[in-house]
Amino acid sequence: MRWRSYLSHLECSRCGTTYEADVPANVCVCGKPLLSRYDLPAMGAAVGRDEIAARPPTLWRYHEMLPVRSAENVVGFGEGMTPLVPAPTIGRAIGVPGLLVKDEGVLPTGTFKARGAAVGVSRARELGVRRFAMPTNGNAGAAWATYGARAGLDALVAMPLGAPRVTRREVTLAGGRLELVDGLIGDAGKVAAKAVAEGYFDAATLREPYRLEGKKTMGLEIAEQLGWAVPDVIVYPTGGGVGLIGIDKALAELRQLGWLDGATRLPRLVSVQATGCAPIVRAFESGAAESEPWTDGATVAFGINVGKALGDFLVLDAVRRSSGTALAVEDAAIVDMQRRCYAAEGIFLCPEGAAALAAVEDLRARRWIAEGETVVALNTGTGLKYVS
Ligand SMILES: *Cc1c(COP(=O)(O)O)cnc(C)c1O
Ligand SMILES: [Zn+2]
Repeated sequence: MRWRSYLSHLECSRCGTTYEADVPANVCVCGKPLLSRYDLPAMGAAVGRDEIAARPPTLWRYHEMLPVRSAENVVGFGEGMTPLVPAPTIGRAIGVPGLLVKDEGVLPTGTFKARGAAVGVSRARELGVRRFAMPTNGNAGAAWATYGARAGLDALVAMPLGAPRVTRREVTLAGGRLELVDGLIGDAGKVAAKAVAEGYFDAATLREPYRLEGKKTMGLEIAEQLGWAVPDVIVYPTGGGVGLIGIDKALAELRQLGWLDGATRLPRLVSVQATGCAPIVRAFESGAAESEPWTDGATVAFGINVGKALGDFLVLDAVRRSSGTALAVEDAAIVDMQRRCYAAEGIFLCPEGAAALAAVEDLRARRWIAEGETVVALNTGTGLKYVS
């Protein structure tokens, strides 16, 4: 496979300021996240979707629209192309017989965080980064420490005490430095920021641009797996929101390439949170462009316990532009859906994925999802990471 990235520059998601892409970058001078921009016309002239579809089934099949310039810098385990699993039994039970679950639980480290880590760590290594620091609710830190070990980079991971226990072990077994924090992810952020001030590269959510590009591949895969078409609705459990922003970015780029068949309308994007921590839902309902910090968040879906996301305005914009919605579900509904889905389908959802399916049930009951619509729900990780 001839390898080429069409990455051209970075662009601020808020003020539009542009930056050179081939030096380590964090946020814009205005403080907002940077987005990777590609020369899509040149890419479209050089490669077609059939050629991509014939490549090995990993997320690197999309390397033209990923930031890593040289194949030698790829740090990976063959991640990507997770199955889009039909879930007809639970689907019928909740009124959406055509329900599809994109099962990210089969990825290395058991969650979709592997996508962000694969691309983010590979690109960091390519740009000469030697060590990085980040706060995490567990899964991102586990993935970055794991990929960091394979890349030979030093990881410092700050994690709340309440994060799933296995994620601590993943960090330390991978040789990362683990800082446990008695608090929430915002408090862990302060610990990681201290390490950044001491010279670690800042790999916090949306404070480096390339994790987003890795997560974007979920959107690319959904379209490819549906035969270069889009579903009516995509439902995503939202913490920092990177996955939803990435899916939105993926579909926009595919549309710009002219690769989406008959897509006059992009899917309605649904942002799901837990009632115990729902800052984006609250902002959506009040019509605000940004969220107010949610203090003392608490939910069994630990990966979406994020009180204030740097990219909240991007999530809200993507949801509104797509005529989507944002809603919160109760922990009881999450746990109940985990049981029902495992028993009905043999799919062991993580609590965050169960939140997405519980939201589908809710939206169908309210007729927000119409009969016969195609719905893709993201199961962002395996339930096995949460058995303790
Ligand atoms: C991190 C995480 C989420 C939330 O992801 P964002 O893209 O940051 O919103 C959802 N589910 C699981 C399992 C996670 O680890
Ligand atoms: Zn800016």
